[in-house]
Amino acid sequence: MKYRKLGNSGLKVSEISLGSWLTYGGYVGDDPAVRSIEQAYDLGVNFFDTANMYERGEAEKVMGKALSAYNRDSYVLATKVFNKMGEGPNDRGLSRKHIMEQCEASLKRLGTDYIDIYYCHRYDPETPLEETLRALDDLVTQGKVLYIGVSEWTPAQIVDAYAIADRLLLDKLIVNQPVYNMFNRYIEKEIIPLGLSKGFGQVVFSPLAQGLLTGKYRIGQPIPADSRAASKNWDEKRLNDAALQKVEQLSRVADELGIQVSQLALAWILRQSNVASALVGASRPEQVTENCAAVGIELSSDVLSAIEAILQG
Ligand code: NDP
Repeated sequence: MKYRKLGNSGLKVSEISLGSWLTYGGYVGDDPAVRSIEQAYDLGVNFFDTANMYERGEAEKVMGKALSAYNRDSYVLATKVFNKMGEGPNDRGLSRKHIMEQCEASLKRLGTDYIDIYYCHRYDPETPLEETLRALDDLVTQGKVLYIGVSEWTPAQIVDAYAIADRLLLDKLIVNQPVYNMFNRYIEKEIIPLGLSKGFGQVVFSPLAQGLLTGKYRIGQPIPADSRAASKNWDEKRLNDAALQKVEQLSRVADELGIQVSQLALAWILRQSNVASALVGASRPEQVTENCAAVGIELSSDVLSAIEAILQG
């Protein structure tokens, strides 16, 4: 495993990190979930991601329990707040009340005294940003949260957050968590340049486009019964012929390099210096092993050009 600094902070995270959305506490049973987390840890993954709303807290419980086998200082644990957790008017968003209460609830479910990275899962237009940032800063002062981050905020929202933190001398965000993969590259235009100039890193989710970039889905072939596409919450439009054809072409590039297309997709992401970690999901330990083996694969400019031609084609 290799480790990168998260933005300008002193925190070092593994180039591959493991998340729990839909999987742990969800469509993946507890046994393969725990074995996947153990496999990741054994391969040097030190960065684990969850959120309060994943399976209504169940993902936090599974992840917290599996990680309790290890020294707390040996891994970086991230969770998130924003999404709806109940029916009441204060059961969602980024108000001081909801943040403080959800932080306590997450700590309890995770079975830990502190969260390494606490993300605002989305921007909350109904709460003054200053209220949110002050609440997060208080959590850092209390030692319940070590670093703060955001997920899928616009460049303007991030710039506002920096300006307020500068003015009020509050703790600044060190990380953004956006989607990024060969089929969704929107962050290349503004978010990555902003990260480089402000000093925050990107931890990118769905780097394998939820499994599409592993080659498991093929034109004219049935969807594997044990895959995410066969589970609930899957948007069928994702498996369109145009995307599947590109994956086939990318698989040929990977074949020539003697690697898997999933590894090509992850190495392609890690070519970006502002990306600190590619945040994968895994339904079984073998996937973790395959994904971690992408670390250290350098793609030549010829290979990058070939990939670009396929993606633009
Ligand atoms: P991926 O793109 O890595 O997709 C993961 C899924 O692909 C796995 O569950 C598995 O599904 C399949 N897969 C992974 N590796 C392999 C492999 N080597 N071979 C074959 N199949 C493989 O990421 P996710 O979409 O799961 O997102 C990763 C994490 O990012 C989440 O767990 C969460 O922590 C975070 N996230 C954050 C969001 C946010 O808003 N901030 C939104 C979404 C995710 P299967 O075997 O079932 O087919």
